[in-house]
Amino acid sequence: MPDAAAHLPFYYGSIARSEAEEHLKLAGMADGLFLLRQCLRSLGGYVLSMVCDLQFYHYPIERQLNGTYAILGGKAHCGPEELCEFYSKDADGLCCPLRKPCNRPSGVEPQPGVFDSMRDNMVREYVRQTWKLEGTENLTLHSPWEKGAVLRVPGLCPALGELQPGLEQQCWLQSQPTSGPFRGSSSWGCVGGAFSLSLSFAFATEAISPLSTFSSLLFQRNLGPLNADGYTPDPVGAGKSRPLPMDTSVYESPYSDPEELKDKKLFLKRDHLMIDEVELGAGNFGCVKKGVYKMRKKQIDVAIKVLKSNNEKTVKDEMMKEAQIMHQLDNPYIVRMIGVCEAESLMLVMEMASGGPLNRFLASKKDEITMSNIVELMHQVSMGMKYLEEKNFVHRDLAARNVLLVNQHYAKISDFGLSKALGADDSYYKARTAGKWPLKWYAPECILFHKFSSKSDVWSYGVTMWEAFSFGQKPYKKMKGPEVISFIEQGKRMDCPQECPAEMYTLMQQCWTYRWEERPGFVAVENMIRSYYYSIAAKPENGPGTGDKAKAALP
Ligand code: ADP
Ligand code: MG
Repeated sequence: MPDAAAHLPFYYGSIARSEAEEHLKLAGMADGLFLLRQCLRSLGGYVLSMVCDLQFYHYPIERQLNGTYAILGGKAHCGPEELCEFYSKDADGLCCPLRKPCNRPSGVEPQPGVFDSMRDNMVREYVRQTWKLEGTENLTLHSPWEKGAVLRVPGLCPALGELQPGLEQQCWLQSQPTSGPFRGSSSWGCVGGAFSLSLSFAFATEAISPLSTFSSLLFQRNLGPLNADGYTPDPVGAGKSRPLPMDTSVYESPYSDPEELKDKKLFLKRDHLMIDEVELGAGNFGCVKKGVYKMRKKQIDVAIKVLKSNNEKTVKDEMMKEAQIMHQLDNPYIVRMIGVCEAESLMLVMEMASGGPLNRFLASKKDEITMSNIVELMHQVSMGMKYLEEKNFVHRDLAARNVLLVNQHYAKISDFGLSKALGADDSYYKARTAGKWPLKWYAPECILFHKFSSKSDVWSYGVTMWEAFSFGQKPYKKMKGPEVISFIEQGKRMDCPQECPAEMYTLMQQCWTYRWEERPGFVAVENMIRSYYYSIAAKPENGPGTGDKAKAALP
């Protein structure tokens, strides 16, 4: 089971305070010697055990509702690793800065948590009772800390009865369990012939911890072997199934396998990387090439951003900044970085999204792509952006050219070249000077005050929606950047693209609210586009998978 600290060599898992002190004693009791262990009282939390002046100190680290980690009264950090890194530079209230990790002796693995199996069993029992599902003991629990979803079961939806052959529309039911071990909501979905169950709830068992939230649990029970293309065989034999994001190899991180996680490092070995001559794209920095990266148990397709060989230090620094940002992100709707490789030139190795940029794809498939397909893709982009907003990152270059497709029904956000991580207490990033900026995608406060926030990313999301719903056309026609600014200042906005549904144009207009204080955030945007997507997907003529104008497009 993934644990945000599992990969850290100084993480011991669920051990008692006395055991932590034994380890620190054995390692020499130097000032600043430290280790990390699981907190037995607050689920998802940790304890930092350390030494100063030959004394032990134990600081509880809470996992907060927004997913960040903090020592009581201290700054919030996006993960336990980042937290330890911070306190190694600055004591900021601790007895002294962290100086030396007390690593696990070789052969010692982190101790599994006492609640882990109890929690899994409670969730299984809940699923069995609430949804009248049998066989839940065979379900496997994935990524309990991550947003996402999904329990997949063969063609029987308890609330709908037997799945009708050919029924491929998406249908959703909400339930709000008020009793039992969980609070929150769950929903059933049926997409393209497979069912999924999303659970989003909090543990309400006082004995464990009333405050610990499990944002979502991901269960999976496969319907059967996937075929070579990653398509799910249709459980009812309707013969029209299409790949769901979770059926692809890039839905979960390649490091979600604990075996692979052991080797996770920022810098990759050159001899594990094979670089193809095929160029996927190019930019000022150099080019993006296709390749294969060899992991412990598997080989994965990758895209490699290669810096020009005679690269200057500033360009290298920029690529390393991009890598540092991507290193902290892990979401199905964001292109993940595998690592960087320093060899013949500096290379950034990423998951492959072979469908290429959204604008180019839509422009070339104008006659084949339905509106509901575009809504589906833009909903995925909103989920990726909601994740970024929650993690306190600003993208600053969201545009259809930077949304890459894994396949016709699966989009990921890419290009973090301009992105910034905001401080835990900051709601925006202030650029000192203007740079080479994509002005047509920028909100007024970016251009006027150099202020960038998730709200300004929402403005760019609106422009990206406009590009998508107009099948990859360029926004603001032939206008130049400065003309666009005065156009916006006059209260004007782009027109509704020809075939775009009114609801989607209304959402774009909301994204283009002049004052950022009044503009919706990504939580609201994702909610609106999701509601609309479900409403149209429930109509058979629009159902995903049934309404393609023609069956062609991407593999
Ligand atoms: P730039 O900063 O120059 O815009 P990008 O990161 O957007 O660089 O990459 C440039 C191009 O390279 C993209 O438009 C796309 O065609 C290709 N590319 C980048 N990343 C990937 C990827 N992960 N998978 C497939 N193609 C990619
Ligand atoms: Mg780009």
